[in-house]
Amino acid sequence: MDLSATVASLIETAHRVGADRRLVLHGGGNISAKTTELDHLGHTRPVLVIKASGADMRTIDAAGFSRLYLDDLLTLRPRSRMTDEDMTSFFMRSLVEPGSGRPSIETLLHAFRPSTFVYHVHADAICALTNTTDGAARVSDVLGADVPVVPYIRPGFDLAKQVSELKGDAAVLSHHGLVTWSDDARACMERTLELTHRAETFLRERKAERAVRGPAVPPLDRDHAERLLLTLRGRLSRNGYRILALEPHGRAISDRPDVERVARAGPATADHLLRTRPWTAVIRSADDVGGVIDGLEREYSDFVSRHSDRMPPGARPREAAPAVVLVPGLGLIAAAPEARLAWSTAEVAMHTHGVAADVLDAFGDIAPLTEREIFDIEYWPLELAKLKPVSATDLAGRVVIVTGAASGIGRDTAMALARLGAHLAMCDRDAVGLDEATEQIREAGHDPIAVTGDITDPDVVDRLVRETILTFGGVDGLVSNAGVAVAGRLVDLAIEDWERSLAVNATSHFLLVRRLLPVLERQRLGGSLVFVASKNAFSPGEGFGAYSVAKAAEVQLARMVAIEAGRTGVRANVVSPDAIFEGSKLWDEGLRRERAKAHGVAVEELERFYADRSLLGRAVRTSDVADAIVFCLSERSSRMTGCVITVDAGVAAAFPR
Ligand code: ZN
Repeated sequence: MDLSATVASLIETAHRVGADRRLVLHGGGNISAKTTELDHLGHTRPVLVIKASGADMRTIDAAGFSRLYLDDLLTLRPRSRMTDEDMTSFFMRSLVEPGSGRPSIETLLHAFRPSTFVYHVHADAICALTNTTDGAARVSDVLGADVPVVPYIRPGFDLAKQVSELKGDAAVLSHHGLVTWSDDARACMERTLELTHRAETFLRERKAERAVRGPAVPPLDRDHAERLLLTLRGRLSRNGYRILALEPHGRAISDRPDVERVARAGPATADHLLRTRPWTAVIRSADDVGGVIDGLEREYSDFVSRHSDRMPPGARPREAAPAVVLVPGLGLIAAAPEARLAWSTAEVAMHTHGVAADVLDAFGDIAPLTEREIFDIEYWPLELAKLKPVSATDLAGRVVIVTGAASGIGRDTAMALARLGAHLAMCDRDAVGLDEATEQIREAGHDPIAVTGDITDPDVVDRLVRETILTFGGVDGLVSNAGVAVAGRLVDLAIEDWERSLAVNATSHFLLVRRLLPVLERQRLGGSLVFVASKNAFSPGEGFGAYSVAKAAEVQLARMVAIEAGRTGVRANVVSPDAIFEGSKLWDEGLRRERAKAHGVAVEELERFYADRSLLGRAVRTSDVADAIVFCLSERSSRMTGCVITVDAGVAAAFPR
């Protein structure tokens, strides 16, 4: 096959393998093929095309593969040993395209096997067979004596040499995975699937006979689940904000009578350790969170000091807190600095613990990696290099609720917050607008949640806060922005209109505060609440009483929050805009006509009228207001509470006092 056909075949195989989560997860496994290319001198040379380190099979494209001169790589074969550092710098010099992606540490394993195609997966069922005492004998029983088993060693030169000397067309790597090879791509893939299938069938049948069973665990009640998540997030965020991913399917693991044993079983394949970390916590109650996490942190520090002589030069101890928690009656929880990482950690943990559960069900015992092997993977520079740097934006790892998020100030603020790394829960009555707004944020690469409903309804407020906690593990900020314009002179106002204005512009903010303050207190991470008020709170306009009175109440509410919640580190500030027309639902045709009449100008002159009456003579944009809100939510305003920021281009009559 020529180069382009080879790459096309590898991409197709990678997508097929990557889509099967029982075979590989998130950057795991590797596939390669051998072909030829003309080098820069015009000579035809053999080339190895192999998935680059960390590339994900499910989504890989041509750029995700490295190409190396195979004749270069084969000169290494006679050597008896080679360090990881020498090997990787050699790879960089053998790249067909200098400076392209970092080749996998498993490159030589693929290069040294003469077959055209070499496929390597971390199949759950294969790992389950090896992760028990007599693992090698189990593999032979189930897969046949013609499939050799290589005892666990960390990938590198030695493993490549060992695999190159094996007979047959497949090998099992203990605590690691499966390798198959063939000159025919289809045969290579079929062998992978056939061996994996055989292992799965064996486990299923054997489990049916022996599986561990215990009494059913009742689900954790909603309030307890919420308390537990908040306490856990607060505790795990001590060294940086964490997002929690709750996987309810994890109850298949967390509700087992032997959950402690499963949690202690270590990774199914060494590759999972990067995300799952050495120990998983088991927490049964919100009251146990501190004790369990403290204990595991101490254990981790002891583990690091016991092996400090093996710590690579320059390496620093990693975060001691666990990344995965099993909660009987609730499920599996993974923690990471951002939601997507938390979800990939949860997925890896589901597989790693699922394999441990299968091993215990099928064989009754489990043979994990030794502590020393765990340490060597945990601090392997080549594995750590796969961890992408975590974004250090202003609001990274924060969770913010935005009300009135479907349009205008709310929508623009949500977008600005997402850009700074905040995780968003967006609420609005307008389902269509909310869909558009969330879609816009999704396109920018974030995953907000959306709750449709009227924020004056306590049940909607409760649902909004609860869903936010269940999705992200907690809350750090609020943009209390939903509002409604109610115009009319006092003598003409219907009581329904008056009450509607108070409900939306004042009471809804109170409902959010009342629901959120206990949440923030339990989390112990402080918090920032931002109330979007109006120039009318300070300088009411004639014929705008219902609105102005309610907005003044909102400002006073914010000050009450500052007074009552300051001791818990919770801040409350007001952003007070004026005359924002851009994208606003507040300024509908009726209101425009009404205010134009009140000010004695033509409707089309209204925006200019408001701009001209300001000290700066400029129109105020939604993005100006969003900037002020973002500032109030960020650490840059950490010493501000009970404060009003006007964003009105200067209206002297509305200077706060
Ligand atoms: Zn591997």
